[in-house]
Parts: sequence; C-alpha cells; structure tokens
Amino acid sequence: MLDALQYVKDRDPDQKEFHQAVLEVFESVQPVIDRNPELAKERILERITEPERVIQFRVPWMDDSGQVQVNRGFRIEMSSAIGPYKGGLRFHPSVNLSILKFLAFEQVFKNALTTLPMGGGKGGSDFDPKGKSDSEVMRFCQSFMAELYRHIGPNTDVPAGDIGVGGREIGYLFGMYKKLSNEFTGVLTGKSISWGGSLIRPEATGYGCVYFAAEMLTANNDTLDGKICLVSGSGNVAQYTVEKLLELGAKPITLSDSAGYILDEEGIDSEKLAFVMQLKNVRRGRISEYIEKYPGAVYTPLDPSLEYNPLWNHKADCAFPSATENEINFKDAMNLVNNGVKLVAEGANMPSTPEAIAYYLDNNILFGLGKAANAGGVAVSGLEMSQNSMRLNWTREEVDNRLKQIMKSIHTACVEAAEAYQQPGNYVVGANIAGFMKVVNAMRDQGLV
Ligand code: NDP
Repeated sequence: MLDALQYVKDRDPDQKEFHQAVLEVFESVQPVIDRNPELAKERILERITEPERVIQFRVPWMDDSGQVQVNRGFRIEMSSAIGPYKGGLRFHPSVNLSILKFLAFEQVFKNALTTLPMGGGKGGSDFDPKGKSDSEVMRFCQSFMAELYRHIGPNTDVPAGDIGVGGREIGYLFGMYKKLSNEFTGVLTGKSISWGGSLIRPEATGYGCVYFAAEMLTANNDTLDGKICLVSGSGNVAQYTVEKLLELGAKPITLSDSAGYILDEEGIDSEKLAFVMQLKNVRRGRISEYIEKYPGAVYTPLDPSLEYNPLWNHKADCAFPSATENEINFKDAMNLVNNGVKLVAEGANMPSTPEAIAYYLDNNILFGLGKAANAGGVAVSGLEMSQNSMRLNWTREEVDNRLKQIMKSIHTACVEAAEAYQQPGNYVVGANIAGFMKVVNAMRDQGLV
C-alpha cells in the first residue's frame, strides 16, 4: 500500500487533495489487499488511481462589458468499470486538477455503492458564477459545452451539477449539447422536470444524507426526532438536508456560505427555509441577509485567522457538513465532541480532514462518510437516466421510495463490509471496502484495459 501511495504522490506531487482521498481509501482497503495478494501483483491500486482519460480545454467567452475572458475546463473520466462515467461539474475559482481528481476518485466508489451501473467522473471549471449576469453564465456554459460535447454522451459520460452548477447551468449546458449533437438525449442529469428531469433529483443529496443518518441512528435504537443539528452551506445540499430534518422532527440551527454563518437558536423552520431558498436560488443573495429578516438569529462573518470554524462550536446532537472539502479540521472535530455531537453525516464531499475522521472514530461518533452518506444525489441521477431511457417519468413517491431503499442498502453494505473485516460500526472502512470490491471485481472480469 505504501509503495502504491508513494507512486501516486511521485507522479503528481502537487495534488494534495487527490493524495488525501487516495490515502483514505488505501488505508481502508489494506486488509483486502492483505487477504488477496494477487491484487498487488495486478497493480490494482496503481490502475485504479490513474484516470482512464483527462480532458482539459480552453473556455473563451465574452462578458457583458465586451471583454474577452478565458477560463479552464476539465473532465476527468476516472473509471468506466461498472458503467458510463458519471459525476458532477463544479464551477468555482478553486477548481484545479487535484480537486477534480479527488472528486472523480471518490465518485467511482460512491457510484459503486448505489447499486446502479455507473462509472465515475467529475469535471468543471475555474469560472466563478457569483456576481455574473444570467447572460454571462449562458455564454460561458455554451462555450464550455462547445468543447465538452464531443467527449460525452448518454452511454459514454453523463455529467450533472455540483458547486456552482444548478438548474440554470444544466439548462444552458443541455441546450448547447442538443444544438451541437442534434439529439435530445439523457446526456446530463439534474434537468428541469418539464424536459427530461426526475422528480426528487434536486432534493436527493440532502434527503439521502438525512435518510443515511436516520439509518445509523435506527441501528443504535435512536431517531432524529428532537435532535439539534448543525448544518453548513446554504446551497442545494444544505437546503434539502434542512427540509428533511424538519420533516423528521429535528431542529436545524445553522447555515453558512463562504463569507460566514448564521445561528438561529429558535430553529430554522419551514417558513425560514422557504426564505433561504428564495434568497439563494432566486435572488442569489448572501446568508448574512437572513438576520435582516430574522433578527433573533446571529450572523458571524468568516474569520480566516481562527484555527477553527465557530459554526461547529455550538451545543448540538448531530452535524451535517454540506458546503465543501476540509471544512472540519481536528480542532472542529474536538469542538463537536465537546459540545455533545454524537453523529456526523457528510453531505459535502470530503468535508472532514483525516485528523478529524480519526478523532470521530476514537470518540465513537456515528460517522457517515461522504461517499456513502451523500450518494443519494448520484443515485437519483441514475434513476433519471433510467427514466430517460424508458421515456417515462416516475412519481415523486416512487423516486423517493427508491432513494430510501438505496440509502438503506448502502447502509447495509457498509455495515456488512465493516463486520467482514472485523471493524464493526466503522462506516469509513465499510464504505471504502464495499465500493472498492465492486469496482475491482469488474476490473478483473474485464481484463487489462
Ligand atoms: P451549491 O453551489 O449549491 O452550494 C455550495 C454551498 O457551500 C454554498 O453555500 C457555498 O457558499 C458554500 N461553499 C462553497 N465553497 C465554499 C468554501 N470554499 N468555503 C465555505 N463555503 C463554501 O453546491 P452543492 O450544495 O451542490 O454542494 C455542496 C457540497 O456537496 C459539495 O462538496 C459537493 O461536492 C457535495 N455534493 C453535492 C451533490 C449534489 O447533488 N449537488 C452530490 C454529492 C455531493 P457560497 O454561496 O458563498 O459559494
């Protein structure tokens, strides 16, 4: 394992987020490699960490003042072992190869856990949609798709949304794909319901994460009813996490964006959530505006000089990090535990640092790793692909029931894999081993390709 990790680091010394994601998987699957030495001989770890294809391209576009702008576009086609490449597009200034490779790598195992036939990929751009007009976003999306379209297709690679890519961006991207390919086909997921989308897709990641948390609690004879919850982010995942928490009787008290967070000790109820959805999705405003409407809440701006994030330092029972990677460090994990938090379910991808994860495990926190807990989004994307292929739409109840079933089966797969390797209750090991085994078995069946 150490040799394989060194090999990955030596090849791309600057890709620290990618190394972090690889290390977590390698540590978890070491017992599998020990039991099956032929995997080392077949260099499975070296193969699985090398993307099948990396596409990088120029995205030129013109802003509203007539200035030419140039961004970078990427698509990482990581693994097609169990199906077409599948994974979101992220538009954020921090996007680079390391971040997209970590996301694509995680996606491979996450997709394997969903039980649906999807490989793994991820893509995006360093374009920042914040503060851009709708027409600038449209021109950018059209230029991005003018190159990407030749690499994707309903049986090849099916992108979706992620940070900075929601319904508006998927619409513009789809429009351009359709024009260039002269085909109306299920090439993107997260589409609007009137032209090929699936009911429950916008809700799926947040709902799925809460279903996973509920499964972890059920396995420990507990429920979410009455639990005080810390939620970070205020985008797609955070919003629907809060919605489902409310439905299950929990009390969410925080939300954030990249500038700061709000604490509402009375609870963010459904009326307040409707305000946040309008604020973030329609007006594209900032979470600080919450306190103008609800003066009982407190807004704290982000202070980069602090070694910890004060959002994670409030009395609570559960935490749902739903913003971005590495948003909970060791100190934050200690603060969570000291404040009584007993469960962490990751809506975001890799929001906890390795030191934070080790601290959760040492303190018997019920910890739902992102690749298991947030797999509901891609699972319903898979269901959107099925509906597109069959040219029909399932009802809300049908999709929601399937989502619930999938989250339940991911939970069971994690529990069983952890038990099979003598680490009961360890969802990190469980998720990584269950996902890894499925992908590796497919790779071995298909030979050296
Ligand atoms: P959105 O763009 O809808 O929302 C992202 C939220 O996180 C915003 O509130 C944003 O604040 C905040 N945020 C983004 N970057 C940072 C940062 N560097 N520091 C602090 N806050 C930040 O994205 P999603 O809700 O879709 O995604 C959130 C997380 O969930 C990501 O990790 C994503 O990979 C993961 N995920 C998403 C899935 C999906 O279906 N959408 C599926 C599985 C995982 P601001 O508005 O200031 O940028």
